[in-house]
Amino acid sequence: MTKSKVQNPNFQKTIKHPFSIVGIGIHSGKPSQIKVNPAPENFGLIFVKEGKEIRASIENVVDTRLGTSLKGIKTVEHFLAAAKGLGIDNLLVEVKGEEIPILDGSALPFAQKFLEAQIVEQDEVKSFLKVSEKIEVTGEDKKIVLSPADNFEIEFVVDYPVIGKQEKTFREDPEIFLKEIAPARTFGFVEDLEKLKAEGFARGAGLDCALAISRGGYLNPPRFPDEVVRHKILDLIGDLALLGFPLKGKIKALKSSHRLNLELVKILSKMTPSQPH
Ligand code: ZN
Repeated sequence: MTKSKVQNPNFQKTIKHPFSIVGIGIHSGKPSQIKVNPAPENFGLIFVKEGKEIRASIENVVDTRLGTSLKGIKTVEHFLAAAKGLGIDNLLVEVKGEEIPILDGSALPFAQKFLEAQIVEQDEVKSFLKVSEKIEVTGEDKKIVLSPADNFEIEFVVDYPVIGKQEKTFREDPEIFLKEIAPARTFGFVEDLEKLKAEGFARGAGLDCALAISRGGYLNPPRFPDEVVRHKILDLIGDLALLGFPLKGKIKALKSSHRLNLELVKILSKMTPSQPH
């Protein structure tokens, strides 16, 4: 990430210095804390809670409603998106509490902490997962198509009431991730809020940690005219972190949700990654 030393995207990365973050969980409404530590080559992204290791992996997903929850740790996707968006492979994350803090609802505060902690290149090369044929997952009006490609690219289309259709393409690049994707906040429809709270969700939700939408429009100013689709790309990057390896391929996503994202990850997790030649 530093301008003076160009890093090789094919080499594994971690951070130089540990850092901590405290905040509130968007669903639990309760305080939580994470301490993010450097980790060695081939370690992967591992959370530790109450002495137990929980790998950021599809096998540990327990819930995909309104977020991606691992065993005992809710809402991991924005943190994971920040790590993957910046090309970080190896971290040990100590968690106190039941949820990763929501902060401002985007991946930017995590990304800024990663940059302050310095992203460092390690000695081993990354393994990538590269598909050789098209893979498609569908559900209701949602769809993801992954096609073979030498790079990682997401083309996302959403179409929601009030906000309408938004389209955005992201081609893997840490600088572009930082500028165009990381700042996009999670969003919610205020008309759904009371119902969600009754079901145990969104108890920490507020205008300081989400883009709020009502029938009349936005309740707080969006950071981008197409912030919603940018956040959907962010969520997908975070969910793909549960693959354990960076993906090479071109994704076309239509209104995809965490559930559908993880259906794709489930299929991909049965494939074998390889190292670039
Ligand atoms: Zn999200």
